[in-house]
Amino acid sequence: MPPTPARDTAEVVVVGRGMFGAAAARHLSQSGVDLIAIGADAYDPDHSPATVDEHEVFSSHNDEARLTRLQDRNEAWGQVTARALGDYRALEDASGIDFHHDVGCLIASLPGGDGRNPDPVAHLRERGITHEYFDPGDRTWADRWPRLDFPATHAIAFEPSPAGFIRPKHLIAAQETLTRRSGGTLLADTVTGVRRLGAGAGFEIVTAAGHRIRSSKVVLAAGAFTNFNRLIETPVDLELKTEVVVLGEVIPADADELAGYPTVKYLNDGDELDAIYMTPPVRYPDGRSYVKMGANTCLDTNPADLDTVQRWFRTATDDSYLELLQPALQALWPDVVFTSFRTRPCIVTYTPNRFPLIAEAQPGLIVATAGNGGGAKGSDAWGAMAADLILHG
Ligand SMILES: Cc1cc2nc3c(=O)[nH]c(=O)nc-3n(C[C@H](O)[C@H](O)[C@H](O)COP(=O)(O)OP(=O)(O)OC[C@H]3O[C@@H](n4cnc5c(N)ncnc54)[C@H](O)[C@@H]3O)c2cc1C
Repeated sequence: MPPTPARDTAEVVVVGRGMFGAAAARHLSQSGVDLIAIGADAYDPDHSPATVDEHEVFSSHNDEARLTRLQDRNEAWGQVTARALGDYRALEDASGIDFHHDVGCLIASLPGGDGRNPDPVAHLRERGITHEYFDPGDRTWADRWPRLDFPATHAIAFEPSPAGFIRPKHLIAAQETLTRRSGGTLLADTVTGVRRLGAGAGFEIVTAAGHRIRSSKVVLAAGAFTNFNRLIETPVDLELKTEVVVLGEVIPADADELAGYPTVKYLNDGDELDAIYMTPPVRYPDGRSYVKMGANTCLDTNPADLDTVQRWFRTATDDSYLELLQPALQALWPDVVFTSFRTRPCIVTYTPNRFPLIAEAQPGLIVATAGNGGGAKGSDAWGAMAADLILHG
């Protein structure tokens, strides 16, 4: 027998309690919508009671830091991200949960960009975003951050606060605190089906624990798993890409010294690694501090079915990724001694137009997914857009 649900009807059910879903649920419940948000417990390699093989779905926010800044890939992205960033403080104050660390962001790129990614300095200038600029070879930036290094070929821009990083799980906790406070119900469960009951009759949402919940409308915010588990009748156009991050452990003294260092976006112009991103040391649930670095790599693949995606998330550290990522991480911190390295698998979800998908996929069902590798920082605003579609059609 499944545990008795608190209730089995709601005006809106939000499927997925990740970055987009938690934001959508908060905006909806604060607008007075009666809702249930259903999301699977995240797999935590250090603390989950279930083994990774017992987990059916996974999230794309499952580490401790996500870069945030006003510089973005284009004007449309920049506007949405700026809207979210402008609301971080109010969210922290209202929830009592801090998630934003405004350490700034160092952006390193060849002058004019690398020809693959939008030129970040052009975006900073066009949008009038406050920044300091250092020509290639001008290392005066290193007076402030002497333990970082970039090739002399690259120009450096520093975007100050509010750029920095957010703690994704803390942001979700902040959103959910406010959702609960507004009367929303949160359920830890995996949805195994969303069934349309006929014109105007709403939906039935079935869960792994055996709940059957009816709602008039649904927000589908299941991240990389949106097209799986019978959540949607006709799949939406998503491309999944594997992504691996390396966590380099630092000793406590370095963790303290480097904690205030900026995040890094580094268009490294390499064949094996592209578009490197990095956070300063952050404390992880195992009590240790790690620098996190990720990038597109020549080993990335595009899994297309549930089984392949699940196997990917269950993959243990792969030495071939470490061979690529570890030297790149060390090169950025030439004199930092890392005491261990490990990698973590993740998935980035893309759309054909490289813009998050926030749309009514079928009457009454709003899809909110596909951060295209950069959805965390603006997730509050992407979720607000989904809520808007529910409220105003
Ligand atoms: C390695 C990596 C680094 C990144 N770095 C950055 C960064 O620095 N800055 C930035 O802005 N963005 C970054 N991103 C992107 C950002 O994390 C994503 O855009 C964001 O997490 C997308 O939010 P989402 O809600 O769509 O998906 P998720 O955050 O994955 O949330 C979806 C949730 O739905 C749940 N779910 C799925 N299926 C079901 C089901 N059937 N039933 C119940 N629950 C279900 C999942 O468990 C998950 O919790 C990064 C992504 C990756 C992979």
